[in-house]
Amino acid sequence: MGFRRTRCPHCKGKLEAGQRIHPECIDAYAEAEGAKAERKRLKQERMAARVEKAEIRRRKDAAKPRAKWLSECQDIINKIVRLRDKHLGCCSCDRGPGWDGQWHASHLRSVGAASAVRFHLWNIHKGCSICNKHLSGNLAEYLPRIRARIGDEKVDWLYTQNQLVKHDVEYLKKFKRVMGRRLRRIEKRNN
Ligand SMILES: [Zn+2]
Ligand SMILES: [Zn+2]
Repeated sequence: MGFRRTRCPHCKGKLEAGQRIHPECIDAYAEAEGAKAERKRLKQERMAARVEKAEIRRRKDAAKPRAKWLSECQDIINKIVRLRDKHLGCCSCDRGPGWDGQWHASHLRSVGAASAVRFHLWNIHKGCSICNKHLSGNLAEYLPRIRARIGDEKVDWLYTQNQLVKHDVEYLKKFKRVMGRRLRRIEKRNN
């Protein structure tokens, strides 16, 4: 060996000539080294698990059909709408915010008729399950009430959005990421 150790690797104290470690430091040093190796091993395990999880997610995402992306994106938007409108009652009837039934997110212009605004926040409002599900949105009430709430200009604009839009998977992936982040921020604020 070309170098001579002058400091004890354990206590960093001075060594005698020819010593590589203080004899009394050997056990504690070995123990500390063992613990260090164990921490390193655990860290490597965690990293491998993280890589594997990301890979599983990547494969799952690659196999996910467009319809599933669409419904996941719609779920996120609907949650954002219900939180935005939590202080409000149903968009289509007089059930107030304290009504203890199930709240939905109700589209003014339906997903089938206006794909261009299926995720547009002006087009979706909190509605009770009775109006949304059993009365298909209760449009005769929805329209005048939402005109009063958000104004004619926005509602009229929504009714010009008749172009057919087919959101592709790349768009939906990005949308889910961005709006998912936004939802988590809003949820945190609401907690
Ligand atoms: Zn020592
Ligand atoms: Zn209602």
